[in-house]
Amino acid sequence: MKNSQRARDRMVETQVAARGVHDQRVLEAMRKVPRHLFVDEALQDQAYNDHPLPIGEKQTISQPYIVALMTQSLELAGNEKVLEIGTGSGYQTAVLAELADRVYSIERYPALAQRAKGTLQRLGYNNTVVRVGDGSLGWPDDAPFEGIIVTAGTPKIPQPLVDQLAVSGRLVVPVGDRYSQELILVRRVAEGITKTNMGGVRFVDLIGTWGWKE
Ligand code: SAH
Repeated sequence: MKNSQRARDRMVETQVAARGVHDQRVLEAMRKVPRHLFVDEALQDQAYNDHPLPIGEKQTISQPYIVALMTQSLELAGNEKVLEIGTGSGYQTAVLAELADRVYSIERYPALAQRAKGTLQRLGYNNTVVRVGDGSLGWPDDAPFEGIIVTAGTPKIPQPLVDQLAVSGRLVVPVGDRYSQELILVRRVAEGITKTNMGGVRFVDLIGTWGWKE
């Protein structure tokens, strides 16, 4: 894509910073990750537009602003282990990989996981690992995580993910019905957890043990 750097700079300025995302590291990461390489060639000229895009298997790559908002809420400084549920295209994985030490990502559809792995590898994101499975159960072998991000909507917060949060760790997850959800930020504190509602969003379904039934 010609002038993709300009398209990204503009995306960050008009869609992300203009709506109040202020973490400079997040803005920098989004200026850097080549979002157009995470979608089909036929959709590349739309990759920097202000909306989600189809990525196959009836799934979508989230709107840039939502990626930024969720990423900012994890408050990453660079040394964290982060877990992502719903790899999809791998775009959010790459943004996290710019900002954390290591990113673990789980995807339900083998075909999407395979493609995302290839894209991340080609772009040199060697601090990412993608596996196929039910992410609503988390990734107990490598827990605890300082940050956990769920990029699909769920009727309730999956308890295994709360259990796999490090103390003072952050979990961001869209909770609601199948049509709309609230973005919930869960923080693990010494005495338990705190929850903050970050506003309304719309995601595809989290399907699994702690999400929706198929
Ligand atoms: N973060 C992605 C967004 C993908 S959409 C991106 O940047 O492109 C949400 C993804 O969650 C879909 O790919 C869907 O297949 C996946 N998903 C749904 N339920 C899941 C589950 N239980 N475990 C892992 N992935 C799941």
